[in-house]
Amino acid sequence: MDALASSPSGLSSQQASVRLEVFGHNRTPKAPSTPLVLRFLRHFHNALIYVLIAAAGITWWLGHPIDTAVILFVVIANAVIGFVQEGRAEAAMQAIESLLPHKAVAFRDGEKVTIDSEALVPGDVVFIEAGDRVPADLRLLEANNLQVQEAILTGESVPVDKAIVAVVEAAALADRASLAFSGTLATAGQAKGLVVRTGPNTEIGQIGGLIAGVDRLQTPLLTQMNAFAKWLTLLILLIGSGLLAFGVFIRKADFTETFMSVVGLSVAAIPEGLPAVLTISMAIGVRAMAGKNAIVRRLPAIETLGAVSVICTDKTGTLTRNEMMASTIWIASKTFDVTGEGYAPIGELHPAPPDSGFSEKAMDHLVRAAVLCNDATLTEDSGNWIANGDPMEAALFALGCKIKGDGDALRIEHPRTDVLPFDAAHRFMATRNRSESGSVVYAKGAPEAILSLCSNATSPDGKPDSLDKEEIAEAVRQLASRGQRVLAFAYSETLAEDAISIENLQGQLTFVGLVGLIDPPRQEAIDAVATCRAAGIQVKMITGDHAVTATAIADQIGLGTHGGVLTGEELETLSDIDLIGAALTTNVFARTSPEHKLRLVKALQSQNLIVAMTGDGVNDAPALKRADVGIAMGRVGSEAAKEAAPVVLADDNFASIASAVTEGRRVYDNITKLVRWTLPTGGGEASVVILALLLGLTLPITPIQILWVNLITEMTLGLALALEPLEPKTMDQPPRRRDAPLLNTSLLWDIAVATVLFAAAVFAVFTYTLDETGSIELARTVAFNTLVVLQVAYLFFVRYLHGASTTLQGLRGTPAVWTALAVVVFGQLVVTYLPMAQGIFGTSALSPKYAAIVLGAGVAGFGVLEVENPLTLALKPAPPSMD
Ligand code: ATP
Repeated sequence: MDALASSPSGLSSQQASVRLEVFGHNRTPKAPSTPLVLRFLRHFHNALIYVLIAAAGITWWLGHPIDTAVILFVVIANAVIGFVQEGRAEAAMQAIESLLPHKAVAFRDGEKVTIDSEALVPGDVVFIEAGDRVPADLRLLEANNLQVQEAILTGESVPVDKAIVAVVEAAALADRASLAFSGTLATAGQAKGLVVRTGPNTEIGQIGGLIAGVDRLQTPLLTQMNAFAKWLTLLILLIGSGLLAFGVFIRKADFTETFMSVVGLSVAAIPEGLPAVLTISMAIGVRAMAGKNAIVRRLPAIETLGAVSVICTDKTGTLTRNEMMASTIWIASKTFDVTGEGYAPIGELHPAPPDSGFSEKAMDHLVRAAVLCNDATLTEDSGNWIANGDPMEAALFALGCKIKGDGDALRIEHPRTDVLPFDAAHRFMATRNRSESGSVVYAKGAPEAILSLCSNATSPDGKPDSLDKEEIAEAVRQLASRGQRVLAFAYSETLAEDAISIENLQGQLTFVGLVGLIDPPRQEAIDAVATCRAAGIQVKMITGDHAVTATAIADQIGLGTHGGVLTGEELETLSDIDLIGAALTTNVFARTSPEHKLRLVKALQSQNLIVAMTGDGVNDAPALKRADVGIAMGRVGSEAAKEAAPVVLADDNFASIASAVTEGRRVYDNITKLVRWTLPTGGGEASVVILALLLGLTLPITPIQILWVNLITEMTLGLALALEPLEPKTMDQPPRRRDAPLLNTSLLWDIAVATVLFAAAVFAVFTYTLDETGSIELARTVAFNTLVVLQVAYLFFVRYLHGASTTLQGLRGTPAVWTALAVVVFGQLVVTYLPMAQGIFGTSALSPKYAAIVLGAGVAGFGVLEVENPLTLALKPAPPSMD
């Protein structure tokens, strides 16, 4: 401390700002990212693209430079789009990281304040709790059972104990028990430490920083699709070689001509744009979710979110607002209502205590317990009262001020000398404070927890009296049934001076009274729960609160409490097998602890359900990891929870989970649409060439025309599908099955239908025009344009997966669809009517009659698809119901 010119109460703001200039920000350098050129080149590293590059080389060698140019254009455009979109997605994800700033609690100007970790300087005194990430290298000053997981530095995954005793100077990193290192995670206990090194000077900074935090855009579905695309390419190459051999050796056709047709066929059928567009859909999903406060830190979660079938959520702060206000006091068999608003320490009791034949003494104990056994403070900002610390404690502090005036003065008068902090496992907190008679212990917590420590109660005149647990339990039920969170208070003036512990408190406390706090449900959570339930997603509340309070809030939120409520205690008596049944039918779980969450996740998963689970505490990490989608609270959550969860909620709000699920479904739908558009239209294009080659017919579309169709449609229409908005009916569908394949029989059927439809339409218009006019150019131009129009028709057809596309809304399209369409139409007009382009593509201008035929073919094709689709849907088995 001397060496760093600091003191046990840390630095002043001024000292800190001077040191910040000298030492710089406490930022851990990131590992260097891949250079841009390499990242661009990576988009060419793909089997599909290799095939196209080889085709370009051979066409060049065969003397068809225009074909070569078109193929290369496809390849380069593809890489550019992929590169730009990947860059945008990565930038978005990096921006997301900054949405989750790391905070640290430090002494500044003698006050305990929360600041950005980046602002820490050597000499600062900081506080660490279980679940925190150590913000800098620290020399520990106090350590209370502190355990730290140092795997990132030492590779040791078991948390190590820390203590304040000095170690020898030569101790290895892993043995420096009196130091806590930046970037490691506190898994238990509490500590106070002196910052000795920050930023690049820390141990983690010395070894080159943390591994870059951003994943590559890769998810199981993308991997599966990439693998599929490779197999498809192989299949197409086989078919192509077969056709080439057949044409050259059996039909004795010209090699160059046949080869060029096979190239056209391959380019048409190989879904080279698909991987890029799928990645883009995912990236758009990540951005959209971040916009709705759901920060996706690991990409596979976007896919899983769309398939979630059960959401297990906390209550306080997620379903409710976590804006608490004490509204009822029950003390010595009397009930008082408390008036007031928000956290403002202004309000009164009804009836006023003196009117109720009630001694001040009992109320005094309650107020002192509420104010002294409490870590929160209130600050006023232009008339607004703001809670610092736990909202419930802030509400209790406000209550104390309402009854007895200045709470801060009370704290100065009765300083704290010892504390047993709140822990969700024992559900109470106790402090020892100086008092007129020496010292007094105050405790507050869940009524059962407090009552189990009490042996008597305060009478109306403030004297110890017998304890009527039945009466108190009834009072708790009364308050809880109104949805109030009930807290009990107790004190002891006789407890010996040694440290407060659970054992020492047994039977030593005198019960004082109860306080009921209201925490209204979030309106948006009510709506979001309804949306989820309509979408076949079960919503389960898992709370540490009392069963009656939990049920009342669940009813207000519309969770459906017909299955009753299961408490943690009851849950413990159930075997894993029995728990499955209970987990499925119950929607409210009360007085649970984090281990119960893990058991519930496992029970639900055993029924093939896809479980999203929320959590905030360090003990929630196992359940968050085990769930299919772990969701950590960004505001109140510990670093440990955030680290364990692939999704972090920036606003801790249940409604954001529902939005993320909705977005997840949209992304999956769009990916389905992309696949359902790309494969059938590719198959349709290819079928035309295959048929002509097999039957030895004149090609209705030349290879270069095929290349062009492929270029113009994939880059425009495909992208438009990636941007499709949510279909209104998506959230009326049951969740999709985890194992539902994207490539299923109904897709094969669609490919077959498109193949027949495209081949029939193209050959029909081609033959008709040829018969009528005798012009092969004109006939090909009609066929070529028909193919494009059919692809557009197919796009409108796949835009609606959950219903007919022939609705007003469906035909109105979206800006993305119309932009894509405008590009396609413009491209086709150029290729058809511009003389220079006519020379290259072998086209000729269409008269109104033939233009009408082209458009008519498109409309007819759309009609056929719309009629065929309900027929196939009717043949499909209905999806299993969720209830
Ligand atoms: P959720 O509903 O989000 O699961 P919760 O806040 O109800 O969380 P816990 O934080 O585990 O659950 O709290 C459980 C119980 O412990 C509360 O119902 C309350 O009775 C008691 N409690 C909570 N915070 C404190 C505190 N700071 N001091 C004393 N008792 C507390």
